[in-house]
Amino acid sequence: MDNVWQNAQRQLANVAKELELSDDMLAYLSEPEAVHIYTVPVPMDDGTTKVLTGIRAQHSLARGPAKGGLRFHPSVSVDEVKALSMWMTWKCAVVDIPYGGGKGGLVVDYKALSPHEQERATRAFARRLLPHIGPDFDIPAPDVCTGAREMAWIYHEYSNYVGHPEPAVITGKPIELGGSQGRADATGRGVALVVQRYFEMHDETLERKRVVVQGFGNVGQWAARVLSKMGAIIVGVSDSRGGIYASEGINVEAAIEYKESEGKLIGFTGEEIPNDELLELECDILVPAALEGAISKDNAKRIKAGVIAEGANGPTTPDADAILEKKGVVVLPDILANAGGVTVSYFEWVQNRQRMYWNLHDVHQRLRDMMRDATDDVGKVATEQELSWRRAAYMLAVKRVADAIKMTHPDLDGHG
Ligand code: GLU
Repeated sequence: MDNVWQNAQRQLANVAKELELSDDMLAYLSEPEAVHIYTVPVPMDDGTTKVLTGIRAQHSLARGPAKGGLRFHPSVSVDEVKALSMWMTWKCAVVDIPYGGGKGGLVVDYKALSPHEQERATRAFARRLLPHIGPDFDIPAPDVCTGAREMAWIYHEYSNYVGHPEPAVITGKPIELGGSQGRADATGRGVALVVQRYFEMHDETLERKRVVVQGFGNVGQWAARVLSKMGAIIVGVSDSRGGIYASEGINVEAAIEYKESEGKLIGFTGEEIPNDELLELECDILVPAALEGAISKDNAKRIKAGVIAEGANGPTTPDADAILEKKGVVVLPDILANAGGVTVSYFEWVQNRQRMYWNLHDVHQRLRDMMRDATDDVGKVATEQELSWRRAAYMLAVKRVADAIKMTHPDLDGHG
């Protein structure tokens, strides 16, 4: 089984040589600046108290405050959070927003808790996090199994702690509490914008391109919705319970409605298909939008998509990357493809700090411009240096972070 943290470190090491990073710079970037591990006691409805584990890793603050989501899931581990925090550093650098990288997680089967237990768990975790977060230091956001509701509770705990409302401490809030227009759809929309720009660069449109989406949470649903509006046909979708295939195309709105009411996709119109087979369907674009490691050395050779757009963080292992590259499959990497979420988080933070709010049109326009510029930047490096898109994105991102560090630690410059 691949270790996600070792994979993240390997991806960094892969570009360190070409960037002529010194060994000390590589060592510095290879570990988070801080990792906090908390006990989180949560009173349950039955009168018992469960002690959960909460984690927050701050990988880098070199380019600005740490930024990244909070994930509430049973598979959360210290290694996973460290990897995700490092990926946030690169992601923020790729889209060139003034943030470093962070990530947090609560090890819990969150969906199995009652609504009151969920609130108590979130608030208890927030109280542990309070001394280590802040609008100028570390700004959490939604991730797997968390959304606007959880962000509101954390915002509330933090505001009580500092003694005044402080919306800029967290992003992905409800609009009523200073959330941004367009934040909920931003990650999925960003995936679609990057894919669209990639096809434009190759003088193609998304008209009738066949798309498979693995994972039908916030990111998968919005990616499917926006890609189908752009003219693509969604032929396969799946969630953790199983998938649906329809060669003539799936009605995305109806599928979202079905998933909302039934809590799953199986049973919806179309042919039922197991998750592993869904990834191997014949299609033009595959969007893995679930968890890490979905595409590994075990299934990479059977992937038939021409382009993979990583809606999830870390869905392709480095071994799988090598196989896909050999096969000529283009991987639009997570740190570019799913950066729309953190980009609109940045807009939200800017609006909170200015106490001035933008309309949806402005948010969409700015997101579009930033995603297209970042795609062009990465594409340029990929073409000029004949690199895979992942390698190109890493070259760009790691260089930006290392250049910032060198300003305050000239001794870490590798050219000496
Ligand atoms: N959790 C999202 C990500 O992985 C968003 C992070 C944020 O908005 O800070 O990019």
